[in-house]
Amino acid sequence: MRYLRERFEAAFMPNYGVPPLPLARGEGCRVWDADGREYLDLIAGIAVTSLGHGHPALVEAVSSQVATLAHTSNLFLHEPEVLLAERLRELLGGDGDGDGDGDGKVFLSNSGTEANECALKLAIKYGKANGRTYFVAAENGFHGRSMGALSLTGKAAIREPFGPYGIDVRFVPYGDAGALKAAVDENCAAVFLEPTQGEAGVVPPPDGYFAAARAICDATGALFVADEIQSAIGRTGTWFAFQHENARPDILTLAKGLGGGLPIGACVAFGPHGGLFAKGDHGSTFGGNPVSAAAALAVLTTIEKDALLANAASVGETLAGGLRAIDHPLLGGVRGRGLWRAAVLTGPHAPAVEAAARDAGFLINAVAPDALRIAPPLVLTAGQARSFTAAFPSILDAAAPAPTTENRA
Ligand code: PLP
Repeated sequence: MRYLRERFEAAFMPNYGVPPLPLARGEGCRVWDADGREYLDLIAGIAVTSLGHGHPALVEAVSSQVATLAHTSNLFLHEPEVLLAERLRELLGGDGDGDGDGDGKVFLSNSGTEANECALKLAIKYGKANGRTYFVAAENGFHGRSMGALSLTGKAAIREPFGPYGIDVRFVPYGDAGALKAAVDENCAAVFLEPTQGEAGVVPPPDGYFAAARAICDATGALFVADEIQSAIGRTGTWFAFQHENARPDILTLAKGLGGGLPIGACVAFGPHGGLFAKGDHGSTFGGNPVSAAAALAVLTTIEKDALLANAASVGETLAGGLRAIDHPLLGGVRGRGLWRAAVLTGPHAPAVEAAARDAGFLINAVAPDALRIAPPLVLTAGQARSFTAAFPSILDAAAPAPTTENRA
């Protein structure tokens, strides 16, 4: 196992550092490392493997699609991508004309960043057509690593080293509807927001913030773009997080959980915004390829068939309740909704707690110095959630800083 890490370090650019654990295989919510040690996977490849590992429906969909037709490019169309776009339109709600389809128009990408690139290009087109010159996004937000998505990313430490970006983005404090209102006027092309800031540490805004953002955009004519790359496809107990406030955006981006582990993202634009691109304005060789589209269809079908939205909501409550019941000096609280939670610490101990959890057989993520992200597969059982919360006090003990001479008894 150590040897594999050394080879990784020698072969790869240093942008990820060297991850602590080589994983070899997975089954359901369990994974095994290269030495055969078992872990409960409570991070799901950063909120991606929604059905868990090796789900038969995903295996069957991907295997039969790859054996039938793996790739077409956008020079040709194929049925899985059409079925997927239709399914997403249905899930996003109809347009009221009674024919059962939604009014969203879909672009399929390979990743979340690319879904946001698509949204940004749509917003730029909208801005140019209407004399709107600037964009608003949130401090500490995360929208991806390409130059467009990075320009919207509020985390200064990752945005600033690669700027300037040649695009006027104004950042406002997340969750402050008054600050958002003050920042958005008739010259604003679009507002980009996450429904909960995932990479900032699973930080939800106050109730009503998304609805307020919708109203501010309605009042000024700015496009409301919801980045649901991390939150969509059941993570919060509904298909899309915006549904908690019934604040449908003009443009929605999603990715991560959609493919269940296969790379796919989507940008959906509603109403007239779905027609903003002219032929030739945007594209992707791999985007919406048949294998990823078949995987996404299997994910959506299985979530529905196995009632995984309800499971995410109820097991999420079990998980959060179990964490809230723990009385430990290192644990300050719990944030989030459904199976998208942060255990908030009283100090910057998250890397130590992540390592102690791993030693105890649980994979969680130190998303911020004082926050541990828990975003397991949507198939997590209440028993598995309880096994983690039962072990968490001793994990915290193991991670607690050694007492200093003064406070040693
Ligand atoms: N937007 C949000 C809210 C994200 O959480 C992420 C990834 O963490 C991205 C965009 C970028 O997605 P990807 O890594 O698939 O490009």
